[in-house]
Amino acid sequence: MLKLHNTLGNKDEEFHPLEEGVVRFYTCGPTVYDYAHIGNFRTFVFQDILCRYLRYRNYKVIHVMNITDVDDKTIQNARAQGMTLKDYTTKYTEAFLQDCKTLRIQLPDLLPRATDHIPEMVALIETLEKKGYTYRKDGSIYFSISHFPGYGKLSKADFSGAQSGTRIDTDKYDKENARDFVLWKARKEGEDFWETEIGPGRPGWHIECSAMSMKYLGETFDIHCGGVDLVFPHHENEIAQSECATGKPFVRYWIHPEFLIVEGEKMSKSLGNYFTLKDLLSQGYSPEAIRYLLLSVHYRKQLNFTKDGLHQAQSSIQRLEDFILRAKEIAKPEEPSPDFNAEVQAVREHFTDAMDADLNTSAALAVIFDFVRFAYQKDSQKAFSGGDAQVAIDFLKEMDGVFGILRTQSELLDEEIAQQIEARQDARRRRDFAEADRIRQWLLSKGIQLEDTREGVRWKRIS
Ligand code: AMP
Ligand code: ZN
Repeated sequence: MLKLHNTLGNKDEEFHPLEEGVVRFYTCGPTVYDYAHIGNFRTFVFQDILCRYLRYRNYKVIHVMNITDVDDKTIQNARAQGMTLKDYTTKYTEAFLQDCKTLRIQLPDLLPRATDHIPEMVALIETLEKKGYTYRKDGSIYFSISHFPGYGKLSKADFSGAQSGTRIDTDKYDKENARDFVLWKARKEGEDFWETEIGPGRPGWHIECSAMSMKYLGETFDIHCGGVDLVFPHHENEIAQSECATGKPFVRYWIHPEFLIVEGEKMSKSLGNYFTLKDLLSQGYSPEAIRYLLLSVHYRKQLNFTKDGLHQAQSSIQRLEDFILRAKEIAKPEEPSPDFNAEVQAVREHFTDAMDADLNTSAALAVIFDFVRFAYQKDSQKAFSGGDAQVAIDFLKEMDGVFGILRTQSELLDEEIAQQIEARQDARRRRDFAEADRIRQWLLSKGIQLEDTREGVRWKRIS
């Protein structure tokens, strides 16, 4: 039985979707004001694992992730670049989707953009106005938190002392600054705005997610996910708006992955301690190693990012790939031995036990490596038959349907090969020949052969 840690009840709870066999799942997507960093991608990779595992457990998953393409930062940056908001955010949305593809994050079923849903947000605000949860001030509309007794139930804070009528206009703030929050921001000179029934202006951040999630998943849905920094105020405010508008529970399971940190601090743009995916690829790290590192620690523990961790991730993947290469040498389409088959079945159960326990990916990976050790042992005892080898390969592929860390050469994109070649050239210029050789070997293990010619490096795919 799958259990997930629900922030709402602050405990592990058995997972039962509202409709049997179908999971309605919403994740807060990126704010597309810049390239995402790999801290962001820890959260997105986790969501991908959750989605893949639910599908592995035979649920039909309807996954919606929004794109926040209007907020203070997107507007400011677009202006600074002399671009329209649409052109600016399209550029970073495409970059985000490309990074997701490189990291083998399966795209959600729907990727709604905030700016395509202004009428839905306006309708939601109108409902809240009619029900008396809002007030207006200088053309902006605010949600009055003292009118919702459940305010604070997600972040477990007591806001009963919060002064009614004091307001906050920024979208991000901490619990100490809890005030009535903005639903609709009055038009400001030089800023993008929409002419609507509730006046000219633009939406606050929180209302975007309530409007888009309920539009596509219904007034009550199963899972809502986002990094821990979204618990307050973003998700607390989403609950307040949605539950006051519908009178129904909004979300049944709230799931919040912890941060990727660097030397004790959250990786973030504002601290400047971040790497984008491109940064790491250009240093010669493979997308698989980055993905492996991001998923290798249980999602509710902070993950300390180090280059050493990336190297270890690379060798762990190499170990699995070496094993598959070895198994392929002897695999035959014949019956496996009964004891090996039974072992595989037991390992499969250990894998699901680990993942059922609130998606314990590190325990699940340990199960896989124990299995590889066991199979090598069989091999060294000459007790690893062609049929066993085939079963082992199929089993690792099945596991990889959840983890997504093993890649065949045909999936390696030309662009990534070029990046790896560039990183190898860089290493050679630095006279780091060990690193250059490691990259050459890695490419070779993916079926890419390099040839150094006078005109530069050429490559070809070999079978
Ligand atoms: P943003 O684009 O800022 O809205 O962030 C997108 C997602 O990344 C949100 O779910 C954040 O909670 C998450 N996030 C931001 N920084 C980190 C970090 N250092 N580690 C893990 N997740 C993060
Ligand atoms: Zn959101």
